[in-house]
Parts: sequence; C-alpha cells; structure tokens
Amino acid sequence: MKDMQLDIFGGATPIEELPKPTSGRKYKTMQRIYGTTEGKTCKTCRHLLRQHWNKRNYYKCELWYISSSEATDIRLKNQACGRYEKK
Ligand code: SF4
Repeated sequence: MKDMQLDIFGGATPIEELPKPTSGRKYKTMQRIYGTTEGKTCKTCRHLLRQHWNKRNYYKCELWYISSSEATDIRLKNQACGRYEKK
C-alpha cells in the first residue's frame, strides 16, 4: 500500500516516490524530473523548507530528498519545477 499525505482540506493523495539514484550517480533535480514553471522560482513555492543550522540557512524541498548533504540543497533563485505551488 502506498503512503498517503493529507492536503489542507483533509483529502488523501498517494505520496509519489522519486526514483532512487543508483550508487555513484547524482540526484536528478526536480526540474529534470517534473519540468519547469515559467516565471517562478523556488523562493515563492510552498514546498520550500528553510533549515537553520550552524548559523547558516539551508534550503530544501519538502517534495525532494532531504539530508544534511549539500547535494540536496536547493537555491532560492532556481527556476521553479513543475510541482510549484504558490505560498
Ligand atoms: S519549485 Fe519545485 S523544487 Fe522548488 S521548492 Fe517548489 S516543489 Fe521544490
């Protein structure tokens, strides 16, 4: 059974699993997986997460991989992916 997530209205939708990178390969970006949204950046997306650690901010995407590795950092000025949702 697939894991489910609740939206703000209480509706349940299945959580999509991203393809796992094979050993030694880089993660694909959300833009490569889902395409892009013209005129938007990650900075204004509701899926952007800010993590504060060691006096620095690190930005992650809640729909993508999250780890302490910089390989999972995203940049605020990245062109938004196809999963963009306005805050
Ligand atoms: S635009 Fe895409 S990659 Fe950027 S924060 Fe939103 S969902 Fe994540």
